[in-house]
Amino acid sequence: MKKGIIFDIQYNCIYDGPGIRTCVFFKGCPLRCAWCHNPESQRLDPQMSYFAEKCVLCGSCMKTCPNHAIQITKKRMERNVGKCALCGECARVCPNGAMEKIGREVNVGEVVEIVMRDEPFYKNSGGGVTISGGEPTLQSVFLLELLSELKNKGIHTAIETSGYFEPDLINELCKNTDLFLFDIKHADPAAHKAYTGVTNEKIMFNLKSIFELVGQNRIIPRIPMIPGFNTNTDTIENIIKIIIAAGYFGSVHIMHYNNTARSKWEKIGRGLEYCDYGKLSDEETGALKSQFEKAGFEVVIN
Ligand code: SF4
Ligand code: SF4
Repeated sequence: MKKGIIFDIQYNCIYDGPGIRTCVFFKGCPLRCAWCHNPESQRLDPQMSYFAEKCVLCGSCMKTCPNHAIQITKKRMERNVGKCALCGECARVCPNGAMEKIGREVNVGEVVEIVMRDEPFYKNSGGGVTISGGEPTLQSVFLLELLSELKNKGIHTAIETSGYFEPDLINELCKNTDLFLFDIKHADPAAHKAYTGVTNEKIMFNLKSIFELVGQNRIIPRIPMIPGFNTNTDTIENIIKIIIAAGYFGSVHIMHYNNTARSKWEKIGRGLEYCDYGKLSDEETGALKSQFEKAGFEVVIN
């Protein structure tokens, strides 16, 4: 069976599609969103993280490492990346959770076996399994096989996607995906590139193509609200135009920006890159909601 790299599986999720769901988080993303709240998902390969504030300098990791890749200085643990084989032993023995291995290789059968344990919850609640990330389509072969296996077992499937993938994937993807939770971040290609690392033409094309193929009951546009990036009236108006032009008139989901991710950036050694975009006030959120409603959309705020 096909293997892939995931970094988390979360149970009892209620905001990632209908009913009670299990979310499987794929590692790897082609975007580099400046506000990313899962920065540990961006690299495709597994990685070690270290949270210095939790480290009590006990030296257990250094004694355990089979490759002698760790040194303890007066202030912190130092890991020699060239010697480290990513075995994860140091994280296993760390008494304080200061080290963590992010990402592990799994095959489709293992994932199916894990997520099927909650099948009764899916059946009773109208839920299922959501594949998230990262960007799930980056591991397209693994993704398609997993979706197919889940559909063979009668499980409702959803994917959370940035929409940034090769269009020739669309037909196969639509065969076994019951619901697309499709991010629309900005209407302007230059702004999109400045804040995410990629322009949005491919995303807009994929959005329209999926609408045409599956209809609006199987896709929900989601707009992450990032203060200072896409929350002004003109930008929202242009996002609304894109959704209408794609032929959609169902509900849209507004996603609140999560500004609690600083520690995640720090533990993967990228703390200096973290940028806090602040919070929208209730009034600002209400105004954005009204703008979508005036255009005829039902709005769900997550
Ligand atoms: S992951 Fe393994 S090889 Fe790397 S530092 Fe930890 S114990 Fe050593
Ligand atoms: S085992 Fe954990 S707490 Fe102890 S030195 Fe290593 S990282 Fe720090």
